[in-house]
Amino acid sequence: MKLNANFQNLQQSYLFVTIAKKVAAYLEANPGADLIKMGIGDVTLPLSPAVIEAMHKASDEMGKKETFRGYSPDSNGYPFLRKAIAGYYHSFGVKADPSEVFVGDGAKSDVGNIVDLFDRENTVLIPDPVYPVYVDTNVMSGRKLLYLDAKEENGFLPLPDPGVSADIIYLCSPNNPTGAVYNREQLKVWVDYARKNGAVLLFDAAYESFVTEKELPRSIFEIEGARECAIEFCSLSKTAGFTGMRCGYTVIPKELQFGGVSVAALWERRQGCKFNGVSYITQRAAEAVFTPEGLAEVKKTLSYYQENARVMAEALKEMGIWFTGGVNSPYLWMRCPGHLGSWEFFDRLLGEAQVVGTPGEGFGKNGEGYFRLTAFGDQEKTKEAMERMKRMLK
Ligand code: PLP
Repeated sequence: MKLNANFQNLQQSYLFVTIAKKVAAYLEANPGADLIKMGIGDVTLPLSPAVIEAMHKASDEMGKKETFRGYSPDSNGYPFLRKAIAGYYHSFGVKADPSEVFVGDGAKSDVGNIVDLFDRENTVLIPDPVYPVYVDTNVMSGRKLLYLDAKEENGFLPLPDPGVSADIIYLCSPNNPTGAVYNREQLKVWVDYARKNGAVLLFDAAYESFVTEKELPRSIFEIEGARECAIEFCSLSKTAGFTGMRCGYTVIPKELQFGGVSVAALWERRQGCKFNGVSYITQRAAEAVFTPEGLAEVKKTLSYYQENARVMAEALKEMGIWFTGGVNSPYLWMRCPGHLGSWEFFDRLLGEAQVVGTPGEGFGKNGEGYFRLTAFGDQEKTKEAMERMKRMLK
């Protein structure tokens, strides 16, 4: 028996382990220090009342013989939820049929599992810095990776190099970690490039609900031609506080075919074999997010985080620090002041301001010299953290 040798090629994920160690060491030396954590990507506000009510109702159904549900007849989601998600797309002008919506237990699983459908010989194009799942899942299955430089010069929004040919392209907008958001013209360039190369565009829209400016796209399917080349991954984690609930969705249009084979049909086959669906209670909870009450409640929660992002952006402007994100995104990606390296700035911020963020270097080589802050924290603590940073850099 041989193990999958590709696992030996994975980079160890030192980032969050190193952060945790540094924080623990700091707390040991400074017991009772009032730390403010702005590094985590998890949400902090609870689920909305409409979601909780739907879960209570669904739990009661599960307790009665007449309404009890066992295995879902379709691992891709109950019709009520697929329809609700398709309706959500329609609400911002995007065509999606419920049969093109595949419900899963979160964008991480779907983004990771989609590579099952693709040949090992395909070349993969991945932006740097990046959400590490795209890299690791392809390394595990032994694919060749090409990196696409996201830098300050291109606003951390790289466009394709016509001289480079790739088969699988990952894009994330609004971006984790940089908070940068592609506009329609830029995404059109990507769609045209993918179609010209016969490539598939894997579009991670996990943060679409943070887009507030009407001119910016929330879905790749707002772009003409995308139905022929793209798959979109989305999540209720950040939209509706579902990080602990686990529910997301992937949209694969009927038009997406390679060699006459439907990608949606392959995904259906894969999921039917390896996945038994999201729990009924969770799917009812997710359905509630898309009701008028649910959407109104979620909007309130999002505006809480958006206000944090605004406060942070204002503070960075006041300090004269270059950054991306902060609008249309819960992430702010700042240049480390004084030409400090990512970890040097991390240490200073922890030691002098008791604020914890994420060193950009952990997301790829182009992240060196940058730092990620998140807007998912408590409002008062976020304000306090920015005041502390101002005092530290005075
Ligand atoms: N995609 C991106 C870009 C993310 O940042 C995250 C979570 O942090 C995910 C996907 C995973 O989301 P989920 O909780 O739905 O698995």
